[in-house]
Amino acid sequence: MKKRLIIIGAGASGMFAALVAAGSHFENKNSLDIIILDANDTPGKKILMTGNGRCNLCNINTDDSKYYCTNKQFVKSILEQFGQNEVIQAFRQLGITLKDKNGYMYPASMQALTVSQSLISALRISGVSLVNNCYVQKISVNPDNTFCLEVSENENQKQYQGDYVIVACGSNAGLKSDNVSDIIKSIKCLGHRFNRLVPSLCSLYADKRNDGYKEFFKKVSGVRTEIKAGLTYMGEKYFATGELQVTEYGLSGIVIFELSHVISTLINREKKSDINLDIDFLPEYDEVEILAFLKSQLHYPKKSLLDLFSGILNSKLALGLLKLYTSLCDSSTKPFIKNCPDEKMLQLLHFIKNAPFKIKGTNDTLHSQVCSGGVDISDISWDTLESNVIKNLYFTGEIIDVDGICGGYNLQWAWSTGYIAGRSIANDSNIAD
Ligand SMILES: Cc1cc2nc3c(=O)[nH]c(=O)nc-3n(C[C@H](O)[C@H](O)[C@H](O)COP(=O)(O)OP(=O)(O)OC[C@H]3O[C@@H](n4cnc5c(N)ncnc54)[C@H](O)[C@@H]3O)c2cc1C
Repeated sequence: MKKRLIIIGAGASGMFAALVAAGSHFENKNSLDIIILDANDTPGKKILMTGNGRCNLCNINTDDSKYYCTNKQFVKSILEQFGQNEVIQAFRQLGITLKDKNGYMYPASMQALTVSQSLISALRISGVSLVNNCYVQKISVNPDNTFCLEVSENENQKQYQGDYVIVACGSNAGLKSDNVSDIIKSIKCLGHRFNRLVPSLCSLYADKRNDGYKEFFKKVSGVRTEIKAGLTYMGEKYFATGELQVTEYGLSGIVIFELSHVISTLINREKKSDINLDIDFLPEYDEVEILAFLKSQLHYPKKSLLDLFSGILNSKLALGLLKLYTSLCDSSTKPFIKNCPDEKMLQLLHFIKNAPFKIKGTNDTLHSQVCSGGVDISDISWDTLESNVIKNLYFTGEIIDVDGICGGYNLQWAWSTGYIAGRSIANDSNIAD
């Protein structure tokens, strides 16, 4: 009799694992009965949300430095087994060519729908069963070491029995509903260590108790600009460069997303409240260079400081920063350059290149792109992604305690881990035959 593989979650990693286990990408005897259970009404729903509906499905610059993990060697070993080139090739086999946008890879159609549809149709051709509206409530191990999954399917209580299980449930990031709490409970009950999920790749709430900041965010909201942001915590320095988006509530944009893992860990896991983020609003220049440029404008003595800074910064931002500076540092600053000696100008420039912001919180899971945390990697085999605690139980994708920065790295993680778990089970079931 065929052995049965049950996959919890028809997301990126679950669908890819099923294809590999079914033999679409791996030479096996197709000796498995594969079934994917998903709580949603259609498979691959989160894929449709990715990359603003365009699906940034991998990145040619992928390496372990793009991931947060307690041991980067684990990430390295996974990517060595199935990296970005393998993803590009696998999607080509599925009939999808990819477009390179500065290293960020998208389907040529620039539509996430193409990606999910190609996976779904390949699964159907491979004979994989997809069960929708099937919410997995509990995973338990039978006395003969097979699995029993208790589910609510179209509101009816049911059980599924299987020889292998892949937990590919992802996280609640970007979703209104909580699908994963019951799975996490089972994972822990079965003896795995689990690091609590906290939002990541998300925007940040600024502390606006000081009126200067209140006004800054009100006036500057909507501005997008290139910055360098950094924070020091417990002697460690964290930096990111890229686009900042100022919002009414605080700070967003890719550069903020990049730092959000560290900040979310501090705020949501370690319950720290004194997070200071310094922003360099003129990252391309040093202070002496800018001073020289500003001095070259001094032959216009009536020029205001605002005019002067509007030549090098977005004008709304220049006004916001000048006001913030006068409110926080030097209320005696006059608005005209003729009243601003070099020393004062340097102080102002130093402020613009090191503007201090206090962060009071992160956005919630619904408004984040991933969650950090998950199954502790010491409870997972690096070669197969099988649990070290329960035989024939595997983990893929975001439920493993690894998360990537923006740029296609999280989907890469889903494809890589899906491939490895699918291949391991296909191998194991062939040996067992
Ligand atoms: C708005 C947004 C944009 C993103 N853009 C990108 C991007 O452009 N590039 C990139 O690399 N990453 C992006 N990501 C992240 C990426 O989508 C995820 O990291 C990736 O989808 C995780 O894959 P997964 O297989 O682990 O889980 P998922 O793709 O989340 O799939 C998990 C599946 O499990 C199901 N499930 C969960 N619990 C249960 C249960 N109890 N019973 C049954 N089924 C269950 C869910 O319904 C879901 O279908 C984005 C995320 C969001 C939210």
